[in-house]
Amino acid sequence: MKFNLPGQIRDLAGFKSDGFLTTSFYLDTDKSRQTKKEIAVSFKNLFTEGRTRLGALDLSKAKKDSLLQDMDKIGRFGAQSLSAWNAAGLAIFACAGQRFWQELALPRAPRNHIVFDRSLYVRPLTSMLDEYRHICAFLLDRQEARWYEVFTREISLLDSLKSEVPSRVREGGWQGYESKRIERHIDAHLHDHFKKASQKTFDLFKRNQFDWLFIGCKEEYRSDFEPLLHPYLKERLKGWLKTDSNSTEDKILKQALELERKLKAEEEAALAQSLVSELEKGGRAVSGLKEVLRKLNTWEVQTLVLTRLFAAAGKTCPKCHYLYIDEVRCPVCQVKTENVQDIVHESVHAALDKKIQVRYVTPPSKLDRYGKIGAFLKYKT
Ligand SMILES: [Zn+2]
Repeated sequence: MKFNLPGQIRDLAGFKSDGFLTTSFYLDTDKSRQTKKEIAVSFKNLFTEGRTRLGALDLSKAKKDSLLQDMDKIGRFGAQSLSAWNAAGLAIFACAGQRFWQELALPRAPRNHIVFDRSLYVRPLTSMLDEYRHICAFLLDRQEARWYEVFTREISLLDSLKSEVPSRVREGGWQGYESKRIERHIDAHLHDHFKKASQKTFDLFKRNQFDWLFIGCKEEYRSDFEPLLHPYLKERLKGWLKTDSNSTEDKILKQALELERKLKAEEEAALAQSLVSELEKGGRAVSGLKEVLRKLNTWEVQTLVLTRLFAAAGKTCPKCHYLYIDEVRCPVCQVKTENVQDIVHESVHAALDKKIQVRYVTPPSKLDRYGKIGAFLKYKT
């Protein structure tokens, strides 16, 4: 299954293992940087590491058997399907005890790792999805218009339009009455074509809800076309593409991705800056793992802001599921806490459960000086 929807993360995050443990397996399968043989070796190494770690886990027989079956199935996948895997990344989520198995084709390479845990390890997916925006790349020409969807580094044609706009004729001289009349006639046709195109853009927006709109057209059309756009679309218009009549999909995609990267970097810098400003004026924000976990536990977080790849060991309470860095006993329930490999991942899960927005910032950033993690709060502290 291709990974491209936030709903997929919510489904995986919501998966209940009911007393079993789950296996999450991530592999970098990017063939632009490594050979098939190297990928096969990485797979084998990761698989062996998983088996070794599993052997050392102190678990009930039922739990261990379920994980062993997961590993067997992953091993079979490696032998049978890995060489034909075309995506840049592979994620496998399994829980044999619950008859659960899902393979995901990832748009970019993840870090190789395997996690055995009560919940499926979805954090790399949330981080990955946060890198992309739903983009509509719209190409407007004299007689034609084409709309493409660009998402997770892929491009696909959404729709196209062809109008009858006569080509410019200048018979009878530039000054001639006849020529002026023809020009006006052509302008009216062109204006109609633009109006149809802007209406269709809005229809496509209503259906596809893209975040950003990029337009490619002749410079001289910009000032005629832009005012025709619906206000919602003007808000989303984030850039102009350089195109000519024979722009290939590849060329459009390349430009759109460059623009996306640039806008995304600006967006992340602005996000980090607004968090820092809020912190400095003592407003509705906290920073640092300890404070963020405390606010997550008490449902006060509005948006969680994380540095990509930031991880830390921690503890959770099996009873109230509160998250801690080092409490041996839950101060609320007085129950002994359990160790978790990555408390930052647990915080993402808690955020998804509570329908809290999770945003990422790529290091280095202003967030580095604030413990690499922060949160906007619902209320002032
Ligand atoms: Zn507790």
